[in-house]
Amino acid sequence: MFDITIIGAGPTGASAALFAAKAGKKVLVIDSDKSVTKRAWVENHYGVMEITGPELVETGKKQAAKFGAELKKATVENIEKTESGFTIHTGDQSFESKHVIFATGMLTDLAEKIGLHTKPGTEPRIKTILDLDANGKTNIEGIWGAGTVAGVSMHTIITAGDGARVAINVISELNGERYVDHDIMK
Ligand SMILES: Cc1cc2nc3c(=O)[nH]c(=O)nc-3n(C[C@H](O)[C@H](O)[C@H](O)COP(=O)(O)OP(=O)(O)OC[C@H]3O[C@@H](n4cnc5c(N)ncnc54)[C@H](O)[C@@H]3O)c2cc1C
Repeated sequence: MFDITIIGAGPTGASAALFAAKAGKKVLVIDSDKSVTKRAWVENHYGVMEITGPELVETGKKQAAKFGAELKKATVENIEKTESGFTIHTGDQSFESKHVIFATGMLTDLAEKIGLHTKPGTEPRIKTILDLDANGKTNIEGIWGAGTVAGVSMHTIITAGDGARVAINVISELNGERYVDHDIMK
């Protein structure tokens, strides 16, 4: 049983995964390797002079793995509600998880298939987004959304930040108190 399964390993999903894994949660990331970020050349990400999209995505995945997140390359095809959480189905495998975070970028087909409420997007070229509350919760308790699919401005610094924000909300709910991750310089 995973605490949190994140669908998508672009800036949104990998950022959510690294926060959740660093907080000691059992984290699974499933990604179908269709990140639009792989086409980007990025010079507007705070703290980074310049970086290619593929390098940013690979570094994000390595950061998540460093803290213990499990990464799988697959497409999530269905999610079913169970008594204790969710069963997440890929083509040939299934996984149990207490919470799920959608970090699926521009893709909303899975969300629509499982009955998550959506609404028209407001950002350029974003047709449909998840209908979420202020914390990132969908209409199905235990399923959350973050980043591009949540309708935030489509920039790596913002989608990564939103992934972290929603992960912190999930971690806080699991812990029963607000969570903060502050390391001190040695
Ligand atoms: C050409 C281009 C140039 C850009 N240049 C810049 C720039 O200079 N600066 C900047 O700040 N931003 C730039 N961006 C925008 C930036 O890439 C996005 O804002 C941001 O990276 C989106 O992150 P994301 O994680 O939400 O989505 P993505 O990076 O698209 O990741 C979503 C992931 O979810 C996975 N996924 C979806 N559905 C499923 C499923 N059912 N099962 C498993 N996995 C699934 C996909 O495979 C994908 O890997 C650019 C974008 C493009 C296209």
